[in-house]
Amino acid sequence: MTLYNTLTRQKEEFKPANGPSAGMYACGPTVYSAAHIGNMRTYLFVDWLRRALLFDGYALKHVMNITDVGHLTDDADDGEDKLEKAAREGKVDPWEISRTVTERFFTDADALNIQRPEIVCKATEHIPQMIQFTSRLIENGHAYETPDGIYFDISTFPGYGKLSRLDLEGQQAGARVEVNPHKRNPFDFALWKHAPKEHIMQWESPWGMGYPGWHIECSAMGLHYLGERFDIHTGGVDHLPVHHENEIAQNEGVLGHPMAGVWMHGEFMLVDGGKMGKSLGNAYTLSDLRERGFSPMHFRYFCANAHYRSKLNFTWDGLSAARTSYERLLTAVRSHKGGTDAADTGPCFARMREAVLDDLNIPKAVGSLWTMVKQAGRSQSIYDAALEIDKVLGLRLDETAENEPEPEQPGADIAAMIEARQAAKAAKDYKKADQIRDELKAMGYELTDTKEGVLCRKV
Ligand code: AMP
Ligand code: ZN
Repeated sequence: MTLYNTLTRQKEEFKPANGPSAGMYACGPTVYSAAHIGNMRTYLFVDWLRRALLFDGYALKHVMNITDVGHLTDDADDGEDKLEKAAREGKVDPWEISRTVTERFFTDADALNIQRPEIVCKATEHIPQMIQFTSRLIENGHAYETPDGIYFDISTFPGYGKLSRLDLEGQQAGARVEVNPHKRNPFDFALWKHAPKEHIMQWESPWGMGYPGWHIECSAMGLHYLGERFDIHTGGVDHLPVHHENEIAQNEGVLGHPMAGVWMHGEFMLVDGGKMGKSLGNAYTLSDLRERGFSPMHFRYFCANAHYRSKLNFTWDGLSAARTSYERLLTAVRSHKGGTDAADTGPCFARMREAVLDDLNIPKAVGSLWTMVKQAGRSQSIYDAALEIDKVLGLRLDETAENEPEPEQPGADIAAMIEARQAAKAAKDYKKADQIRDELKAMGYELTDTKEGVLCRKV
C-alpha cells in the first residue's frame, strides 16, 4: 500500500513500525458546535484510510481524540476557549455542550457508516498526561513560564516548520502583530494556560490552576495510547501550519525523535466555490441535507467521487447528481444477486483493490466498480465482488443494508414547547423558560442551547 506523506511530499510504501499492526492517530472534533459536512468529509477520508488498512490485512489501533477543552477561537494562542465561549453565549455548562455535541457527532458518523475508532479519548480525561508532557518539555529546556502560562520556545527546535515548509524568517520579520509581549518568539505557543476565575474548566497543576493548550492534547494522548513511534497521523489541511507543526515540536522536544511516521491531510470541502463557515450560513450539517431529501449515503457517495487530496466543491446540484448515481449503483449491484450467468470478476476486482491501495484512490475504485456491475447478464459473483470492495467503500451496497432508521424527531407539540421556551428567554422570563425546560425533561427531552439554536435530544 502506498500513502502520500505530507512531510516528504511524496507517496511512500507503507511500512508499519510494529509489524502487522498499524497505529493511527486522528485529530478529532472540537465539540463546541455540531460538526458540518466539511468536518464530516475529513472523517470520511479517515474512515476510508482505516478500512483500506484493514482490507490490506493490518491489525489496527486507531485513536481519535475529542477536543473538549483548550482549542482557542484562533488556532494559535489568541482568543477564548471555544467551549467556554459557546457555554457563555448559550448560558449553559460547557460539559453539557461537549456531551451533547459529542453524542450528535457519533450519531452523524454512524449514519455515514463511519466506523468507530478502537479508542476515543477526551482531552479533559487526560489532564495528568498533558501536565507530565509539559513538565518534560520544561525539563528539556524547550518551555518557559510567562504570566499567562507555559509556552514552547520554538528557537530550541530547529526543525520547526518542516511539515508545512514555513519560511520562519520571512514570516517572523513580517506582519504578524504580537499580542503577548512575554513570548520570546512570535511562533511560540501555549502548552498550559493560567485560568481566570470565571473559566469553568480548570485543573490544578504545578503552575497553578489552568487548562491545557490544544496542541499538547494530541501529543500527550498519542504517546499515551500509541507509544513513542506510531505509523500514521491524520487531520484536515488546516492543521498543517499550526496544530501539527506544534505537535511535531512537542514530540521531538520530549522524545528526541519523531512520533508519527506518515502525516496525512484531507483537503477542504468548499461551498459554491468558497469557504464554508458558520457565519456565512453555509456550514450545512447532515440534518440540513436530510431536510432537503438527501440521505447520509448520498453524501458519502458524493465524497467518494473526489480524491481526499483534492478540494471538493459542494453544491446542491452536485449532491443531487450523486443521489441519482448512487441509487442507480444500488439497483445495478443488487440486480446481480442470485444471477447464474458466468462472469470473470478477477481483473475488475484487482483494479479496484489496486486503486484503494494506491494512496486511497476511492474515485477510481468506484469507477471500476461501475464498469464491473454494468456488465450484461446477472451474476452472483459480481454481486459478491461488489460487496467485497464495499468493505472499503462503505456504501451499504448489500441488499439487506437498508439505510438506518432516521433518529426519532420530536413531534409538533414538543417543537411548540421549545419555541415557547425560546420566546420566554427572548423576553428575559428565565423562570418560565426553565419551567418549560423542566417539563420537557420530565417528558424525556433534553435541551442544549448552542450558537446554531437549540439541540433537542430524547433521553
Ligand atoms: P474541528 O472540529 O474544528 O476541530 O474540525 C474537525 C475536523 O474537520 C478537522 O480535521 C478539520 O481539519 C476538518 N475541517 C474543518 N473544516 C473543514 C472543511 N471545510 N472541509 C474539510 N474538513 C474540514
Ligand atoms: Zn490534534
